[in-house]
Amino acid sequence: MRHNDWSKILGWPGYAVYQQEIDEKAKTLKLWVRRKRGNLRLICSGCGRRIGQPADVTEREVRDLPCFEYRTTVVIEVYRVRCPDCGLKIEKVDQLPSKAPFSKRFEEAVGEACESASGRRVALRFSLPESTVRAIDLRYLERWSQYRKKPALRQMGVDEIYLGKKAKFVTVVSNLETGEPLWFGQERKKETLDEFFRSQLSKRQKERIEVACVDMWAPYRLSIEEWAPCCKIVYDKFHIMQHANKAVDEVRRAEFFRKGGPMRDLMKGKRWLLLTRWVNLADGHKQMLNELFRINRKVMKAYLLKESLDRLWNYIYEGAMLCYLQSWIDQLRWQRLEPFQKLALMLLDHLDGILNYCRLKPRLGVVEAINGNIKMLVRRGRGYKNLRYLLLKAQRMAATKTEFVAFRKVA
Ligand SMILES: [Zn+2]
Repeated sequence: MRHNDWSKILGWPGYAVYQQEIDEKAKTLKLWVRRKRGNLRLICSGCGRRIGQPADVTEREVRDLPCFEYRTTVVIEVYRVRCPDCGLKIEKVDQLPSKAPFSKRFEEAVGEACESASGRRVALRFSLPESTVRAIDLRYLERWSQYRKKPALRQMGVDEIYLGKKAKFVTVVSNLETGEPLWFGQERKKETLDEFFRSQLSKRQKERIEVACVDMWAPYRLSIEEWAPCCKIVYDKFHIMQHANKAVDEVRRAEFFRKGGPMRDLMKGKRWLLLTRWVNLADGHKQMLNELFRINRKVMKAYLLKESLDRLWNYIYEGAMLCYLQSWIDQLRWQRLEPFQKLALMLLDHLDGILNYCRLKPRLGVVEAINGNIKMLVRRGRGYKNLRYLLLKAQRMAATKTEFVAFRKVA
């Protein structure tokens, strides 16, 4: 084959193959390329300035996409330039996105593969170490993030996620309209969210935020009130239902576990049953739950209370919502379900923020979906030590809608 044909097959714009080597046994192909005659637009990789003359020339070897069954590497002539601002620098070459020994399109292929498979599987497929795959994926995501449009933040979600013993709690700020996480911060204090406002948003951007969906958790509210005074706070369904689930669980523990013996065994491994909504249970599971209810009425009442609280968000008029909440609280009388009485007091304390849902109608279920996606990534990725990587990964997932947990529609 002529050099010219190899140049066409390789398809690096502006570059021509001048030498090749095929190893049939090892199934490798190696191509040497240099700039085509007349293609001498040198650009400083430091600042992007055009430079007239090269200072000297070196060679770099990078792995490119395979050619049929042949693992392919390209040896490329790279110039160094003497830039008035940066000094002696390597020229910018489109096919070489970083100092790592891979071509741009090879990194893209690895990055795309990482979108639907675990790092370990991608590593096997490309016969690379897993750490290299992760580094390539991170660069791929950084490049994507750098060039994409970032929509304005008007509806904000703030949530906390527990990432395991090492990373502990992480505060997640998200854009509810686009359904993507924007920022991660270590811990879940007021200072954590302060840092987001301080480092990520301009004064105008802060003024533009209209709504924030948060948990009934004072530190976040205090931070929002300080930094975004125009922003209204909504205590959203997802966070309130988390508290309701916690109350059900407390009743379960009081009723079964503290009594010990056979009662305890009966309840073993059934916590999730009580935390799942009735509509989402299979028939067999509904039956299991009904049997539990026959044994213990208190657990049944707790479950029904949780189920009926869920319907609070079916109301879109403030008066109707308030009315429903009042009747829900009235049901608690004479029930002696302490965790629910505590919950009711908490709801009354945060009433204005709960009713704000009717006034502002932020998208429901987004915080929950983002939360679910991040947890799934963490489970699959075996721990992200690098929070930046986890954030980019979750953003990419939201943007491409890969395996995106569907938003739950309000019935
Ligand atoms: Zn420069």
